[in-house]
Amino acid sequence: MSAIEPPMAMLAEITHRCPLQCPYCSNPIELERSSKEMGTEDWRRAIREAADLGCMQVHFSGGEPTVRQDLELLIAEATAVGLYTNLITSGVLLDEPRLKRLVEAGLEHVQLSFQAAEAPDADRIGGFSGSQAKKLEAAAMVRAAGLPLTANFVVHRQNIAQIEAMLDLAVAIGAHRVEIANVQYYGWALKNRAALMPSHEQLDLMTEQVAAARDRLKGVTVIDYVIPDYYARRPKACMGGWGQRFLNISPTGNVLPCHAAESITGLEFDNVRQRSLADIWANSKAFNLYRGTDWMPDPCRSCDRREVDWGGCRCQAFAITGDAARTDPACEFSEDHGRLVDLAEHDSGEGRDDFVYRNFAAARRAPAGAG
Ligand code: SF4
Ligand code: SF4
Repeated sequence: MSAIEPPMAMLAEITHRCPLQCPYCSNPIELERSSKEMGTEDWRRAIREAADLGCMQVHFSGGEPTVRQDLELLIAEATAVGLYTNLITSGVLLDEPRLKRLVEAGLEHVQLSFQAAEAPDADRIGGFSGSQAKKLEAAAMVRAAGLPLTANFVVHRQNIAQIEAMLDLAVAIGAHRVEIANVQYYGWALKNRAALMPSHEQLDLMTEQVAAARDRLKGVTVIDYVIPDYYARRPKACMGGWGQRFLNISPTGNVLPCHAAESITGLEFDNVRQRSLADIWANSKAFNLYRGTDWMPDPCRSCDRREVDWGGCRCQAFAITGDAARTDPACEFSEDHGRLVDLAEHDSGEGRDDFVYRNFAAARRAPAGAG
């Protein structure tokens, strides 16, 4: 393939600790304890290396990134080397003094996650009493500090009926952008799929509601929305292509092509404590395995969309077929597409509302990668 372009953005998952317990959390089932987390100096070095490599943005995420008391230092480092900084947070631990310190360190944008529009549902889904009230306070603080705000709603069967209320809430808190993010079924969400999967009818109604809201809210807020994979006919260009636009660093320093990549059992990832980011980006086996088009099987190999969607998502191919090198089953040309359709139909009709909450106790009980 042609020369490897530098990554555009780095997702720094600085911890897996989080006071919330969302049943669709994108963190791996095997959550890392704080004792395994990479220290401040290693993170600062990784941030400098990301800038040297050509990254433009760093997104601080987790878990809940504000549980780390050195977040200010990491934001300051990123600012000093010219990276755009975004904080992806549940907001429940933010207070004014902390936000002030983060802004002084150079924080430029906040993405605040919501579990629902209505407080009782939000608190139940996130497994954290009083979360919605704290999020609303956090949103007001972020706006008062003059930072741009993105509101992120993760949508599934148990909150999809609140879609219009979610959009109203986003406008009420002054969000510049709203992400209506359909659950992606890896890790915790795969475990909870039968309690989360919306029906086709629910999805169609939401798509209409979002389209109408886009017209109504033109100039007020921007709405990001894509059809979820289980009901799609073509896959998304996941992460802009494996190892092409993004890199992710896990709390322990493992460098991943996407945040869910550790769900592909058997893949080994290099660690930024042992190798430089530039070396890993260019030469790591895990990055090169599915980079570009050489690895592709048919039907992707001979398809004219192979450099548009890059064969879709490797983690989804693995989750559904057990083989990360197959065409993403979200594609209707995939031999496995029918399985995805059947799974969506089956799980959306389950009628379950119980969750396996994402926490360290549940992580201990569950074998890695178990769906
Ligand atoms: S998805 Fe929920 S549990 Fe996971 S890190 Fe975000 S707020 Fe915490
Ligand atoms: S066959 Fe492969 S390249 Fe073609 S649309 Fe499907 S996933 Fe994309």
